This record gives sequence, C-alpha cells and structure tokens, in this order.
Amino acid sequence: MENSVRETVILGTGCAGLTAAIYAARAGLSPLVIEGHEPGGQLSLTTLVENFPGFPDGIQGPELIENMRKQATRFGAEFMSGHLAAADLTQQPIKLNLGRQSIETRTLIIATGASARWLGLPSEQALIGKGVSSCATCDGFFFKGLPITVIGGGDSAMEEALFLTRFASKVTLIHRRDSFRASKIMLDRARRHEKVEFLTDTVVEEVQDVSRNEVTGLKLRNVKTGKVWDFPTSAMFLGIGHEPNAKMFQGQLDMDSDGYLKTHDFVMTRVPGVFACGDVQDRRYRQAITAAGSGCAAALEVEKFLEEQER
Ligand code: NAP
Repeated sequence: MENSVRETVILGTGCAGLTAAIYAARAGLSPLVIEGHEPGGQLSLTTLVENFPGFPDGIQGPELIENMRKQATRFGAEFMSGHLAAADLTQQPIKLNLGRQSIETRTLIIATGASARWLGLPSEQALIGKGVSSCATCDGFFFKGLPITVIGGGDSAMEEALFLTRFASKVTLIHRRDSFRASKIMLDRARRHEKVEFLTDTVVEEVQDVSRNEVTGLKLRNVKTGKVWDFPTSAMFLGIGHEPNAKMFQGQLDMDSDGYLKTHDFVMTRVPGVFACGDVQDRRYRQAITAAGSGCAAALEVEKFLEEQER
C-alpha cells in the first residue's frame, strides 16, 4: 500500500469524508480513507439525528456514520487510522506524511471537519449527548418546553440562543465577559427576545448531574464578585466557536482569517487535484446533509480530474 501511488486519498471520516468515499469507491478508485483524530466526526458525538433525509423516525448519529462506513467498505474503500503530520501539495504525486508511514496519491480530498470548542470540564465531557451539546439544530428539539442554557458571546451563541427559543421555555445566555464579539444586529435581536435572558461575567464551574446521567443544572461563578451558585437548567449548548482542522495545510492552501479552507466552485482548492469538502471549508451551513453533498461533489471532481489527466 505504501509504495504504490493511490488514485485518491480522503482525509476524514465524518459525513463529508464518508460520502466522498462511497462515491469514489463506486467509481472504482479504491479510495484510502484516513480516520484522523475524531473518527466519525461531529455526528459521532450526537444522539438522535432527525433532520437527515430518509429517516422518518430519525437515526442515532453514530449509527448513521457506521452505516455510511459500511456502505463505503462494501464498494471497496479502505480505512486506515492515522493522523496527517505533513503534506507536500507542490508536486504530483501528492505526498502525505503520516508519521511512521508516507503515502503518495494523485488526488486528495480534505474532509477533516471542524471541531467544536468545549469548555473542557470533566462533567461537561461526561454529559455530551445527555443534555450537553454543541449543535442547537441537531439537539434543540429534545428540550421542548424546558429551560436551556447557551454559552458564548459571539454570533454562534446568539444564533443558537435565538434558534432555541423555538423550543425552550426560557434561554439563558451565559458569557464570561460583559462585552460581546457578536455583531450588533445579532446581539440586539437576542437582547430584544422575550425568552432570552443574559448572565454576563459568568463562567461554568461544573455541569450537574453526572451521577444522574442528565443535565439538571450548572454550578456558576461570577468572575467579578466571586459569587458561586447553582443554576437549574435542562441543557447546555456550547456556542464558543469551532476550530477547522486545516492547520497542516497552512502556506499551501488558501484559508480565511479563522483558518477555514477557501474553496471556489464548491470544492476546488487552489491546487489542482486537491479538493476540500464539509465543515473544514463550510462555516455557514455546517449540516450533516450539506457536508455529505459537498463530499459527493469532491468525489465527482476527483473522477473528472483523473479522467482529464489521462486524456
Ligand atoms: P467567536 O466569534 O470566536 O466567539 C466565540 C465566543 O465564545 C466568544 O464570545 C468567546 O468569549 C467565547 N468563548 C471562547 N472560548 C470560551 C471558553 N473556553 N469559555 C467561555 N467562553 C468562551 O466564534 P463564533 O461565534 O462561532 O463566530 C465565528 C465567526 O463566524 C465569526 O466571524 C462570526 O461572525 C461568524 N458567524 C456568523 C453568523 C451569522 O452571521 N449568522 C453565525 C455564526 C457565526 P470572548 O469574547 O471572551 O473571547
């Protein structure tokens, strides 16, 4: 495997990478799919997915991912665990360094996703999928009629808070400072909403209640007064940003100021034969279905690129 040049290598096994793998495998390209540090991507961190078309009763995120993986395997995709340490995109074939192993490939699909930022509290990590979530669109529905908390002070937090007012009895937005990164229009919209209330200069010390395996409240601390108190809530949504997983391409591919890969014509990067899809290049929609769609587009472009090279 190491010594032959692959037709295509796919980095990432979230929705985008696995859809690309299904299409590339069915096109007879025997794609090699590298798992990366979060196999399954963000869907593997959610519970019930109710907005992916084709599943009238919803499907568990990890099950959806597992199904896609099986589908790709059935058509001949090969999976390998590993992390990309470095890549040389300046020559053909493209060279990928995975630490102990190096791989050469004619084309590359980057589907490395974006990782949600978390607070990093052990209680938060223990309750992911049980009331702690980084995706309001995915999980808001489960907290109909209940009080919900959103953490963050940027546009994502405002957007999540406003979206969650559709379900929640009340949304409390908790921010660690008293000034906001959010755009004025989004902040004003959230401030004006009757269901949204703000708690500023406040940080979460602990998510309760790990022993009950569900979120019942938060232990909060006011950073100015030092006051600590228990705050009842049914869910905590993180809106503190995402980190695109693209640092390893710095200097070789175009990125925006936050490190998302810049693409043109859907999935094209500035390097011929290198395509990017899913959340690593999409800061706008970030949905499983849009990631899958762009993964499909990337695989079709790989096919087209290889055909044109052979002509
Ligand atoms: P962001 O602008 O970086 O804001 C992240 C927020 O989370 C900040 O308020 C930050 O607090 C807080 N935060 C970060 N780490 C934290 C931690 N460990 N504990 C507590 N709070 C923490 O990220 P974003 O809101 O995702 O937005 C990213 C970009 O996407 C922005 O350019 C934004 O305009 C854009 N966006 C636009 C829309 C829209 O227009 N509809 C929607 C979403 C995002 P500090 O302020 O104290 O650092």
